[in-house]
Amino acid sequence: MERNNMEKTKYAQAVNEEIISTLCLKNRYSFLNNNLTAILSQKEFNFLREVQRFCLKFEKKNNVTHGPDEDFYEWVPAFGAEGYISRQHNFKMCDVDYGSDWGLAADFMRCLAIDMFDPQFNMGGGATVLAINPIYEHHDNVPGRIEALKDLVTGKAPGCILITEPERGSDAVHQLTTCKEQGDGSFILNGEKIFNTNAPKSKWAVCYATNEQNNPNTMAQFLINTSWEGWNCERVYIPWVPKLYLGKERLENLRVPKEYVLGGIGKGRDHLFEGLVPERIAICMMSMSECWSAVAHAAIYANLRKQFDQIILLFQGVGFLLTDLWAKTTNLTIGLLKFCEAYDEKVEKFGGKIPQNISQALVASASQFKYQTTKLSMKVCYEAANLCGGAGLCDNTLLHDLLNISRIQEIVGGSRQIQQYIMSMALRTLFKMSVS
Ligand SMILES: Cc1cc2nc3c(=O)[nH]c(=O)nc-3n(C[C@H](O)[C@H](O)[C@H](O)COP(=O)(O)OP(=O)(O)OC[C@H]3O[C@@H](n4cnc5c(N)ncnc54)[C@H](O)[C@@H]3O)c2cc1C
Repeated sequence: MERNNMEKTKYAQAVNEEIISTLCLKNRYSFLNNNLTAILSQKEFNFLREVQRFCLKFEKKNNVTHGPDEDFYEWVPAFGAEGYISRQHNFKMCDVDYGSDWGLAADFMRCLAIDMFDPQFNMGGGATVLAINPIYEHHDNVPGRIEALKDLVTGKAPGCILITEPERGSDAVHQLTTCKEQGDGSFILNGEKIFNTNAPKSKWAVCYATNEQNNPNTMAQFLINTSWEGWNCERVYIPWVPKLYLGKERLENLRVPKEYVLGGIGKGRDHLFEGLVPERIAICMMSMSECWSAVAHAAIYANLRKQFDQIILLFQGVGFLLTDLWAKTTNLTIGLLKFCEAYDEKVEKFGGKIPQNISQALVASASQFKYQTTKLSMKVCYEAANLCGGAGLCDNTLLHDLLNISRIQEIVGGSRQIQQYIMSMALRTLFKMSVS
């Protein structure tokens, strides 16, 4: 039987040999696939299997244990070389062609496979995608921007996005970091940013700043090479994702040359909002992948673990709770997949870019999914670990990782209350549109 790499923990093996072997990645993938065959198109399923095969080989070849000492940033080039950092777009402009396996639905498949392989690694990749998207939208074929895009997409370097500041979190448009235009079209940036995923490991950062503090109409957007003078970065440590590097940056008279200005003064806010739908949907994909990973673990465990001389699945308290988690996970997956497919159809219909009025209408849907999927993953990961008893809490399986990472997604990309605030404003707009 395929052995589970998690057994190579430096601490004691708490879960019995049969169960730990059966919980291997191959079987967890198989559980997911048997659930999704009826739902996915053949194309989606084939791509899911392709990424899964790569992860299985990679885990085995590199003796990946998912233990605390591994630096998953070392894995980025190998995944990048296969085109598994992002499939949200085809990146022909930097000589990368994914055939027809790209778009939000393809990216959902990529995310499912990679998250089940290693959730923290997947979250790091997600932050690179946040840097990729604005450069993709605004590269304007400028060589320096294309070079950055290629580095990020092919895994040569991780990337990060700098929106949040120590004093400006949810209120992301009233920024304090300043940008002052120089005579030659370059800008000088000064200020502080915080909680920027991957920043200490990144070569490229996409950063927002403002010409006049607290004035959203004067926001601008920049691409920064972190080797430039004026970039100072310390690591922020988040104990629930101990292998992820987040940054706190002090930008000190950092000069951004003209060719790296992605959006000049006045364009920053629009650029920020334009990326919100795919960004939030990517967090939803992560959350649903965490749900599947947790349900796969618990379903396998509950079918093997015996107490009172009976497999625990057959105790109603276990079996019925697991079916509840499973049903909710399946249903929300179908909803999210439908959203992704509809989004991709619109991208195709409108020649690559969704018109602003439609994109605006999708903002509320993205918030609805972000609100519900992050909430669900927190519940599913907690309850699935709970159903595995001590085995779900010790370090022998990925359940402890899932438990921790699922508690973070509600804050990242706009908190629960901010999603509710967006939805309530959308309800106001719908009321005005609907009632004569
Ligand atoms: C693991 C992690 C990764 C992150 N990655 C990045 C990244 O890559 N790039 C980046 O720029 N940022 C990143 N962030 C920052 C994240 O986006 C912010 O933490 C988030 O937007 C909340 O901001 P804040 O922490 O300042 O909280 P605050 O905005 O201070 O919020 C505190 C509380 O007040 C509530 N609140 C605030 N305003 C309102 C309101 N109007 N109505 C109701 N409630 C409200 C919030 O919901 C929250 O519960 C990351 C954060 C974490 C934890």
